[in-house]
Amino acid sequence: MQKILNYINGELLEPTAKHYLENIDPSTGNVYSHCADSDAEDVELAYQAAAAAFPKWSETPATERSKIMLKLAGLIEANLDALALAESVDQGKPLWLAKNGEIPRAQANIHFFATAIEHYASEAHPMGNHALNYTLRTPIGVVGCISPWNLPLYLFTWKIAPAIASGNCVVAKPSEVTPMTAFLFSKLCIEAGLPKGVLNIVHGLGPKVGSALVAHPKITAISFTGGTKTGAEIARVAAPMFKKLSLELGGKNPNIIFADCDFDKAVKESVRASFTNQGEICLCGSRLYIERSIYDKFKEAYITQVKKLKVGDPLLDDTKVGAIASKMHFEKVLSYIEIAKEEGGTILTGGASVKVAGRCENGYFIEPTVIEGLDHLCRTNQEEIFGPVVTLQPFDTEAEVLEMANSTTYGLACTVWTENLTKAHRVAGAIKSGIVWINCWLLRDLRTPFGGMKQSGVGREGGWEALRFFTEAKNVCVKL
Ligand code: NAD
Repeated sequence: MQKILNYINGELLEPTAKHYLENIDPSTGNVYSHCADSDAEDVELAYQAAAAAFPKWSETPATERSKIMLKLAGLIEANLDALALAESVDQGKPLWLAKNGEIPRAQANIHFFATAIEHYASEAHPMGNHALNYTLRTPIGVVGCISPWNLPLYLFTWKIAPAIASGNCVVAKPSEVTPMTAFLFSKLCIEAGLPKGVLNIVHGLGPKVGSALVAHPKITAISFTGGTKTGAEIARVAAPMFKKLSLELGGKNPNIIFADCDFDKAVKESVRASFTNQGEICLCGSRLYIERSIYDKFKEAYITQVKKLKVGDPLLDDTKVGAIASKMHFEKVLSYIEIAKEEGGTILTGGASVKVAGRCENGYFIEPTVIEGLDHLCRTNQEEIFGPVVTLQPFDTEAEVLEMANSTTYGLACTVWTENLTKAHRVAGAIKSGIVWINCWLLRDLRTPFGGMKQSGVGREGGWEALRFFTEAKNVCVKL
């Protein structure tokens, strides 16, 4: 059976303790590879390799760094099929989604920062004829990147790309639930000629590898994407060490549908926003607020389309909803459906696990589930479920929907459907979330600052923000 090895100092290495974790294909429930179960000793090796590589890499001209990264981006493109298959098997997402969405986005992440670094400039602030200030931006050193399982290669590369583009060396940890694409990526890094030690990938469990990385005294910046609870733990450890922190955390995103929306478009895109990747995208809309005058009509059209979504084998082209990423998460999502029932919710469609015949009969599948009749303050509407479960609620006024939409501790993303331009901008301004989509969903420009408000995160990723995060700013003031 295939072994997923660490990538340290340019080589693929066994974990020092020689322990492995079972890597499970969630669509079958079968073990399909073994993943390094690394520990603090492996993190230390990775740190040493990164620290040794840093002086040369940080001095390497940006154009040279860019060239290697462009080669890496090209290799991702050339290996699209293999990476997409690995992503689908690892996470349970439909293969077509990995092929058309996630892997091209991983390629775009590397390409974007490879070119961005060639255009990046720092600021100057002249004080008339008296003095000149300029901001020197230098790489930090060895930085840590930790990513989750829901968009494995996409989120992994979203952190690594700006970190290495700006001259840092990295110790990175992908999720233990979905390690395969990071492993394939490490092979592509070797093929691209990335100098040894610039990127090191240590596989294993969060509380073992992730926490060793966060607690490492010489790793002075951590870029983390994952759950809010884990983010709080990371902040607890890292804050007293004064590490630079970027935390991209959970969400409970509202999707607001006004009566004056483009109805057909709002229905179609709301279905996509609810159930793409089994609802396992931090940006999925899980609370649908619908203006009362169109509530029944919208509900009917929405449910009709949801019922058409085929749950099934992720490798088949007509599958719209694949497997839930792990047994543990599958049980968590099902437990929330029970909570919703206990809270008085009415299941309009779905509400149970699905047995998929054939090779996937032991996989972790859940029907797309739509619930109504719940108070906006109940647990189902306040806590992140992160699966194919959404709620519908009617509203009468703009003030009422804003209060409901803003009522959670999260503030990651929001979608607004209206053809009234003034109202769209007014609502966007009043919503407390890091991104607001008007009449669309998941449209991303990689130059824009990305991140959450409230307990959805601290810091911003994307564009210049990411390059700023991964550099230290020094003001130089020259008396003229
Ligand atoms: P998670 O927090 O359980 O794990 C994320 C990563 O952190 C994994 O690599 C894990 O091994 C590691 N980890 C766990 N405990 C750790 C510790 N004590 N110290 C250091 N690292 C540790 O999250 P998950 O279940 O993998 O991912 C789902 C969550 O991620 C959801 O809450 C989702 O909303 C969030 N997410 C957020 C964004 C965003 O951009 N805001 C994007 C994707 C996912």
